[in-house]
Amino acid sequence: MGSVSEYFGSLVFDDRVMKANLTADVYRSLKKTIDEGAKLDIGVANAVAAAMKDWAVANGAIHYTHWFQPLTGITAEKHDSFISPSPDGGVIMEFSGKELIKGEPDASSFPSGGLRATFEARGYTAWDPTSYAFIKGKTLCIPTAFCSYGGEALDKKTPLLRSMEALNKQALRILRLFGNTSAKCVRSSVGPEQEYFLITKEMYDKRPDLRFTGRTLFGAKPPKGQEMDDHYFGVIKPRVAEYMEELNKELWKLGILAKTEHNEVAPAQHELAPIYTTTNIATDHNQLTMEIMQKVASKHGLVCLLHEKPFAGVNGSGKHNNWSIATDSGQNLLSPGETPYENAQFLLFLCAVIKAVDDYQDLLRLSVATAGNDHRLGANEAPPAVVSMFLGDELNAVLEAIENDTPYQGAQKTQMKLGVDVLPKFNRDTTDRNRTSPFAFTGNKFEFRMLGSSNSIACANIMLNAAVAESLRIYADRLEKAEDFKTTLNEMIRKTIKDHKRIIFNGNGYDDSWIKEATEKRGLLNYRTTPDCMPHLLDKKNVDMLTSLKVFSEAELKSRCDIMLENYSKTVIIEANTMVSMAKTQIAPAVEAYTAEVARAAEAKKQLDRNLACEYETGLVRRLSSLTDRIFAKAEELEKTLIELNKAADVIAESEMVRDTVLPAMNELRIPCDEAETLTSKEYWPFPSYGDLLFGVK
Ligand code: ADP
Ligand code: MG
Repeated sequence: MGSVSEYFGSLVFDDRVMKANLTADVYRSLKKTIDEGAKLDIGVANAVAAAMKDWAVANGAIHYTHWFQPLTGITAEKHDSFISPSPDGGVIMEFSGKELIKGEPDASSFPSGGLRATFEARGYTAWDPTSYAFIKGKTLCIPTAFCSYGGEALDKKTPLLRSMEALNKQALRILRLFGNTSAKCVRSSVGPEQEYFLITKEMYDKRPDLRFTGRTLFGAKPPKGQEMDDHYFGVIKPRVAEYMEELNKELWKLGILAKTEHNEVAPAQHELAPIYTTTNIATDHNQLTMEIMQKVASKHGLVCLLHEKPFAGVNGSGKHNNWSIATDSGQNLLSPGETPYENAQFLLFLCAVIKAVDDYQDLLRLSVATAGNDHRLGANEAPPAVVSMFLGDELNAVLEAIENDTPYQGAQKTQMKLGVDVLPKFNRDTTDRNRTSPFAFTGNKFEFRMLGSSNSIACANIMLNAAVAESLRIYADRLEKAEDFKTTLNEMIRKTIKDHKRIIFNGNGYDDSWIKEATEKRGLLNYRTTPDCMPHLLDKKNVDMLTSLKVFSEAELKSRCDIMLENYSKTVIIEANTMVSMAKTQIAPAVEAYTAEVARAAEAKKQLDRNLACEYETGLVRRLSSLTDRIFAKAEELEKTLIELNKAADVIAESEMVRDTVLPAMNELRIPCDEAETLTSKEYWPFPSYGDLLFGVK
């Protein structure tokens, strides 16, 4: 295979391929559909389908699939081959416009949260022409939305597209008010930075906890962890470098702009960041990236762990969601402009985000809530569970000056009068310092840092787009009716700063004193766990906002809340069952066998010399024996908490019981097991240790 520029996007039915393989008329209609959402007629669909099929077959594809993102958080596909019988007894390769546009997977086993009774198995998938089709293996994958026959969304893409549309509509209203008549659409863009761990496949296979749950449930602290800070940005090991090289190649073929790669803080932890792109495509690409990461790893005898907290005591993995909004001509609306007028527009968009984050802290928090991410948020490595915003000193000074109507005394000592003066260009170095903030302004974009590494980025961006659209809607309503545009604009900006400055925090988010200040003085929300935050999806203010912008229906919200809580409980229950099984069938027997060996050694020594004290053996046997008793007792207690779950009245009650009884019992069981690991001969220990796992890739 040739140079990167030759194979980049070679597996994507992208604009270049469309131009080359479609007639001018068909291409033009399709472009209109892609760019402006125009309806596609069946003739055009047939022509596109035929061209797509020919291109796919020429590139080795035999099957096609509608590729979609059900609420399981991963992607789904059901393959159909292109073959169709021909009258002469052979087959021809066929693919119609109808098959391109709509699919009907038997979808009864995907979570629907009661939206689609299982007997009404049919859901349908609908082509999303804004995200290019691509070839994976021998299959043409067509990105699609997934809905029930009643029209309710059963996936993550549908509400994401709706949220983008809501943002587009409201942002255009604002731009028109500022005299922009040329922008055709406004889109949000995202660049997600993806963290992950790499361990050897051989060791992974020996750990049921990793295989069943993606994280270690046991493991004594290794002699060396991340305290030396010698991994971050360190030299990449040859085996990892080979992995990254192949990963990049596979991603580039799929048109994914993988750009940066480096070692992260924890041993065995790495990061990959693509160049940002339209949110919808970035979401598809991130799902694909996670899939390809795992696939390529297995080719290299490695396993890629995407869990938020695979190891206790070392950093977990997150996903920074870099988000901005821009017009179709490429004007970034979160970038301070060149003229006073552009600055006023920038400040209004900035205020829209400030208001959105404050008004919908709960939605942002719950958009990243999973059992896995609960281990991370609020630990000393990730942003706290309290949502706040970092703006940097310069921008903060500007906002203060506006609020108090005083001269702006920023770095450049300029006065700041809205609509009159030019804002200073913010220096990236001064805006990007704070790594502890959940939501940081980084010069011309916001970095939302609460996402977990395995999260689909759809949820966070749905809430972000919707909440900002709502601020813009309120602003546009007022400005369109304003008698004096400038005065109203000034008032609105000042009022937003006054009303919402509590959400702005430029200090250290990891500090305990901040949590106290945030919750006690500022009244910010601190939802520590998934069951704490998820039910607030159905708070009236949230339902009102999301339904009025047509991002979700009320029924969809109810179903999503149920599904997310069910996922939470199921995840923890699987972990608990795995723990019980490992403790009873692996750890306790191993400790017991070793205890017996030590006892036998003492016995043998005494046979030699009756007067030998055998203090080491006796002491060890006593300690190990008491540990096995505790392990067994704690495993039984954990099992009891699981049985009790039957009594839960509904999903919310169950998730609360999981949080309050199952998780604590899991922690209790882990303690004697980890202690036993430090006392038991390594030969006897049934699976690789933390040290083996974290330092195993050479
Ligand atoms: P870091 O945060 O590690 O310092 P960068 O800020 O350079 O790294 O980039 C992080 C991610 O932000 C990348 O995926 C990059 O493409 C993305 N990004 C850069 N500019 C924008 C933007 N205007 N909108 C959205 N994402 C962006
Ligand atoms: Mg970053």
